[in-house]
Amino acid sequence: MAHLIGIDVGGTSIKAGLFSGDGKLLGVKSVPTGALDNAEEFAKVNAGLHELIESHNVDVADIVGVGLDVPGPVDSLGNVGMLANIKLDATAFSDAIKASFPGARLAFINDANAAALGEAWVGAGRGQTDFVMITLGTGVGGGIISGGRLIAGHVGAGGEIGHITVNPGETEHCGCGRRGCLEQYSSASGIVRLYKQECARLGEEPAELKGPSDSYTVFQRLAAGSAAAEIAINRMCEYLAIAMSQLSAVVDPAIFVIGGGVVGSFDVFKEQLGEKYRATTLLPTRCSMIVPAELGNEAGMYGSAYCAMQLL
Ligand SMILES: [Zn+2]
Repeated sequence: MAHLIGIDVGGTSIKAGLFSGDGKLLGVKSVPTGALDNAEEFAKVNAGLHELIESHNVDVADIVGVGLDVPGPVDSLGNVGMLANIKLDATAFSDAIKASFPGARLAFINDANAAALGEAWVGAGRGQTDFVMITLGTGVGGGIISGGRLIAGHVGAGGEIGHITVNPGETEHCGCGRRGCLEQYSSASGIVRLYKQECARLGEEPAELKGPSDSYTVFQRLAAGSAAAEIAINRMCEYLAIAMSQLSAVVDPAIFVIGGGVVGSFDVFKEQLGEKYRATTLLPTRCSMIVPAELGNEAGMYGSAYCAMQLL
């Protein structure tokens, strides 16, 4: 029976999921790795993959697709661009996996796009041919499915929703070097940044935060009546709604799927976000739904496996 493997490729480990052809996750295996640019590391990964399939009594011949998601640009043809955060020789790595799984098709995909594809396959976007996923984590990622197809684009920048300009008047720089990107306001670290700014402006004593991306504490402060937290989350929703309305004018999604760590507080901001979106977007697109993601951290594994399946 046909099976698939979906692999999250990270800087210090890979996490592989074994899937049945209809999208059931059968098992997960993590393998710590060094730089993925040499035969020794490739052999380690392959050994882990074989261990994973053997522990579920799946033959090598049954693996028909292996998908790999990476934290960086991958164009619509599956070519991996420059990766800032991990060391990977994509060609040599895929050759090593192909040699170990000769019956499998291999596919690379950007990690945020993989999460969107995963949600399209068996998560919050299943059955939808037009939807946009927005991942609110340390940064803001995204994936766009239009007419049932993922839009990766010419250089792999398709779906870089975090870098839509929502505030041209911003003076601080985004990580991308530009100013006024959505990521500066609606990521976990953006929420914390806005909160600290407002605390300073209002003379409010800031809460003790567990790091620069601890948006959870800011949401807790909101519940406790903090004016700074209220303004920060207001602005986070306002800028997110602007980006969503721009996206609606381009791809007109039926639903927006919101994922990433910040979605843990979805119930707190969903109403406000919905109101702001409807107030900003083109009239016919006001009916787009806004829903939370369903697959959590495993969405990328699902999506990379699904990406490989689409090549069959
Ligand atoms: Zn940016």
